[in-house]
Amino acid sequence: HLVIDNVTKSFGDVQVLHGVSLSVHRGITTAIVGPSGSGKTTLLRLIAGFEAPDSGSIVLADEVVAGGTRLVPAHRRNVGYVAQDGALFPHLSVGRNIAFGLDRKKFRSRAAAEARVAELLQMVSLEPAYARRRPDELSGGQQQRVALARALAREPELMLLDEPFSALDAGLRVATRKAVARTLAEAGVTAILVTHDQGEALSFADQVAVMRRGELAQVGNPFVVYTRPSDRETAEFLGDAV
Ligand code: ATP
Repeated sequence: HLVIDNVTKSFGDVQVLHGVSLSVHRGITTAIVGPSGSGKTTLLRLIAGFEAPDSGSIVLADEVVAGGTRLVPAHRRNVGYVAQDGALFPHLSVGRNIAFGLDRKKFRSRAAAEARVAELLQMVSLEPAYARRRPDELSGGQQQRVALARALAREPELMLLDEPFSALDAGLRVATRKAVARTLAEAGVTAILVTHDQGEALSFADQVAVMRRGELAQVGNPFVVYTRPSDRETAEFLGDAV
């Protein structure tokens, strides 16, 4: 369970988030949609712990991870983050990139780790042989899928996905999205997805949050948000983007 309460954030004199509140129940997938520059990525980075809010609080699984003087660093939050560009370790093989996320206590032997890596590769529709390749030998879409597999390897409580399917072509996009949705659901992982793709928001998410100029204009069931937008600007944004 994630509770974001009245979070603000400025960079220099530009206020990017103006008091964002959002509650996400365990196992629920939320899609954040909204115009470019409205603050979607900034919100994800605050939840992940890469940035600190100026005010407000973030509570993750009953622990205050940001708020007042308290700030839990990113590596101490049980959160997976997949950035738009994937950002793999270039000097490590694909297999080692993914194994990096594995819990060493759970996958002690090399064979157990390799078997899990193969399983994770399969989840993102990549052959086991890819484990031996280096990231620069892969296409952008393949790298994106490896980044997803690495984040899934950590078995995070909360998965933050920033346009994770953007480099994939239409067919692969749907297949990967389905595989990831299934994996997250099986593991009961809570997920927040930033996307420009309205179809993706509708099919992937249990809840849609519409961000506008650093505020959440509307949060609700996808069907309700799309059929009954809260105001004209939201209606125009959703309508334009379809
Ligand atoms: P997009 O859909 O284009 O990815 P977004 O909704 O994710 O956009 P953000 O990336 O959160 O938007 O950016 C919101 C605003 O904050 C932008 O005006 C951006 O320039 C600004 N911003 C983000 N990060 C920083 C930073 N580290 N320093 C200064 N300004 C920043």
